[in-house]
Amino acid sequence: MKDCIFCKIVSKEVPSKGVYEDDMVYAFHDINPVAPIHILIVPKKHILGIQEMQEEDEKVVGHMLYTARIIAEKLGIAPDENLNRGYRLVFNVGKDAGQSVFHLHLHLIGGRQMSWPPG
Ligand code: C5P
Repeated sequence: MKDCIFCKIVSKEVPSKGVYEDDMVYAFHDINPVAPIHILIVPKKHILGIQEMQEEDEKVVGHMLYTARIIAEKLGIAPDENLNRGYRLVFNVGKDAGQSVFHLHLHLIGGRQMSWPPG
């Protein structure tokens, strides 16, 4: 989509630090990380956000979650056999939730102790 920053990142028109790519998704380091590891997993198809997700998008959204698991393992933040370590997966949906880029993305955040509730 024209003028969409994440479409430009997916197409490599705008450079990014990629960590994973396949036919459905592209994942890269967030430009403004909130933790030692902060990855964005983005579908190649332009979907505005979860608020615009269609039933036909279930496969790509499920694949985004599976991709998060694979990347977390690759980066060494997946929980161990005692369920220590770990990471957080976040979809911000709409402006009140903090969504600022209106191309669907999943935040994979880890490498430090998280707190709850989020801000
Ligand atoms: O959920 P939200 O829409 O706020 O997340 C957008 C994320 O995209 C932010 O964490 C921001 O740092 C990141 N971003 C980026 N590269 C850009 C523009 C935004 O990594 N060029």
